[in-house]
Amino acid sequence: MVDNYRLLIGGQWVSSPVQASIVNPYDDTVVASVPVADRELVDRALQAASDAAREMAALPAHQRYDILMNAARLVEARKEELAVSITRESGKTIRASRQEIERSIFTLRLSAEEAGRIGGEEVRLDRVPGSENRLGFTWREPVGVVACITPFNSPLNLIIHKAGPAIAAGNAVVVKPSPQAPLTGLMLGEILLEAGLPPRALNIVYGGAEVGRQIVTDPRVQFIAFTGSARVGREIASTAGFKKLMLELGSNAGVYVHRDVSIEKVVPRLVQGAFATTGQACISTQRVYVHRDVYEPLLHRFLQAVDRLVVGDPMNPETDIGPMIDKSAAQRVESWVNEAHARGARIAFGGRREGAVVWPTVLVDVQPDMKVVCEEVFGPVVSFIPVGSVEEGVERINDSPYGLQAGVFTEDINVAFRAAKALKVGGVIVNDSSKYRADNMPFGGVKGSGMGRESPAECVRRMTEQKVVVLNLD
Ligand code: NAD
Repeated sequence: MVDNYRLLIGGQWVSSPVQASIVNPYDDTVVASVPVADRELVDRALQAASDAAREMAALPAHQRYDILMNAARLVEARKEELAVSITRESGKTIRASRQEIERSIFTLRLSAEEAGRIGGEEVRLDRVPGSENRLGFTWREPVGVVACITPFNSPLNLIIHKAGPAIAAGNAVVVKPSPQAPLTGLMLGEILLEAGLPPRALNIVYGGAEVGRQIVTDPRVQFIAFTGSARVGREIASTAGFKKLMLELGSNAGVYVHRDVSIEKVVPRLVQGAFATTGQACISTQRVYVHRDVYEPLLHRFLQAVDRLVVGDPMNPETDIGPMIDKSAAQRVESWVNEAHARGARIAFGGRREGAVVWPTVLVDVQPDMKVVCEEVFGPVVSFIPVGSVEEGVERINDSPYGLQAGVFTEDINVAFRAAKALKVGGVIVNDSSKYRADNMPFGGVKGSGMGRESPAECVRRMTEQKVVVLNLD
């Protein structure tokens, strides 16, 4: 069954003569047909958002709260349909898709709560001689139009992380979902309209880099909320001009395992960190630095656990590892593993590919300059590396162009804090892998992993401008 989708522009559902097929990466079936936006349609979307900005700014906080809470209820009512859609379009396992929907509901609720929390502060102007009788304070105003550009791996929650706070803050929105996984983003349009959002305030267009570039360089956009690769993030930073940016980019996240850990407790967390969502997460654990004293037993237990993972049909609730987003992504990962192998790395598990499916792969004897170590794999591949101390573990984790999140496993609070202080990342997770994310924590990275932090509270602050007001009481 092929579903036909339309784009949401200026409150209307519109089509276009050029259609793209959305293909299930597991069985290559076409699951949907989506209109590709040309320049004129993107222009109409940007104009509609720009026209709606004033209406959104005038919408009281209680209405913005109600709209987002209604949307949370509507997502809840359609949750199985949404989860199945994510699995069909992207190959994400149905278990992971269901988790994503639960998180999406939570992110909408968190965003709703922030609508009532936007506020300013008093400025002590009597600190300045001659200003004793002046009263200063700030308030926050919406920036205007927020553009949301998102990747394929969490196609709904990552849109909600941007559009939710943008609406909570009183902005109009243009969304460009991933060209590979746009369907739940389009369904969110129906949901937010039904929830009571002013019709022109949310515009959803479909397309690839060209559509993205048109949005990024348009002067009607005041804020770009982007999640995606470092390559595209860099381009956006250099072409956006005077716009506020939030860039959530990639990583090759590392974890350090100290010698004092309980191997039974650590192994399941590491398996989850490396292989959940088939390794296609920006915080997937890609490098595990293990204290030499526990390296062999930990690796042994890890390989046993990996052997129990179920690989295959993502619609099967038992499946742990589904396909990657497409065959070419799987071929790239396979070629990186082969390159490491040719240079002396040993494949301790996996190393197999069929179509878009890559079996969970564990590498040892890797070198720091192998792609599987120093670049973002974004697939189900993890390397185990022995180290002699927490200092060495931290140094090796920091030896990366990225710095998103890191994990530290230890029973020793001093080791945990020493590592947390020295790690050059946006988030340190103690006694879990790098892959832990709660939707209300500030999330984002340093170095090549981007700029800004994502959480509804952080985004609402950033998606508003501070205005200072001074009263002269002389
Ligand atoms: P991608 O960078 O290829 O695409 C992301 C989005 O940008 C897509 O919508 C794409 O069409 C659009 N785009 C492409 N070229 C553009 C351009 N020149 N201008 C504007 N937009 C453009 O990423 P992907 O392959 O969809 O996703 C994988 C990447 O996303 C990985 O690097 C991963 O680490 C990253 N990611 C980061 C986070 C985070 O929160 N830090 C979360 C998930 C994924």
